[in-house]
Amino acid sequence: MIDKINSVAVVGAGTMGNGIAHVFALHGFTTMVVDINPEQLDQAYGTITKNLDRQLAKELITEEEKKATLDNLTTSTSLSEGVASADLVIEAATENIAIKKEIFLTIDQASKPDAILATNTSSISITKLAAETKRPTQVIGMHFMNPVPVMKLVEIINGYATDAAVTALIQQTAEQLQKIPLVVNDYPGFVSNRILMPMINEAIYTLYEGVAGVSEIDQIMQLGMAHPMGPLKLADFIGLDVCLSIMRVLHEGFGNPKYAPCPLLVNMVAAQKLGIKSKEGFYDYQEGPKSLKISHQFTRKE
Ligand code: NAD
Repeated sequence: MIDKINSVAVVGAGTMGNGIAHVFALHGFTTMVVDINPEQLDQAYGTITKNLDRQLAKELITEEEKKATLDNLTTSTSLSEGVASADLVIEAATENIAIKKEIFLTIDQASKPDAILATNTSSISITKLAAETKRPTQVIGMHFMNPVPVMKLVEIINGYATDAAVTALIQQTAEQLQKIPLVVNDYPGFVSNRILMPMINEAIYTLYEGVAGVSEIDQIMQLGMAHPMGPLKLADFIGLDVCLSIMRVLHEGFGNPKYAPCPLLVNMVAAQKLGIKSKEGFYDYQEGPKSLKISHQFTRKE
């Protein structure tokens, strides 16, 4: 097995993929970003440049570090060519098990036999993805938080077969990125989403049952529990479709009714009220993502 990671390939150049590529390239890793959509690659390169400029303005990095980061980055639309020389492949593509299984099949065939394959999935079983490969001992979860350049935590998830040496190397690699890795086992939602999503779902139930309004629920959690934002606002940020799909993974994975998604969440997703990305969720974002204007559906009548 590989004993040091020098090069990485990040599969998927969306919200998470560009952040993951940013931190690896910044810390000196040769970084290849792969996406089937060339426009996503252009957009990711633009986002990374903009975020490096922001770090430069705050004097968190130097002009030389910005240049070296961009020099470490290359992009490709070919999955098999993109992963061929990587020591570590991190899959950060769309949260869909069929897509991820297909990607794991291809990267297992195209990458070096001793390469480690990681996934940034929020909820899909690492063990199931590992079973698509001929190297389940070298498959692991590496769950970065959004926004990746800012958030310190990396939740490291051991699949059923993950080798302890692989876990140790991935922990060490996360530390090289100046992140704090915490190791957990592969059960639905891992730790982060197993705790966070039921809290968000309960907040939606509280609204659904008329216990309180959007603003009261969010402010109670913000002011009373010192959360940086209320659970309904956070759900809008994450995307209500993402919240629903994680609740379904918990519900199905544990077979316990306590994880049943709130009918209001199900209805809002069906109505395409997905939060910030659709400009409306519990809040109305027509005037931008910082909006505190409550969506008309939730404005309480006096
Ligand atoms: P996103 O929709 O922004 O990006 C996904 C990217 O994957 C797109 O650019 C898409 O073109 C690409 N893609 C799809 N199929 C592909 C394929 N076969 N080969 C290569 N690229 C492909 O998604 P995201 O929010 O960046 O999420 C990515 C992963 O990270 C998901 O597993 C998600 O659960 C996880 N995650 C997301 C967050 C978050 O806050 N957004 C936080 C932690 C983890």
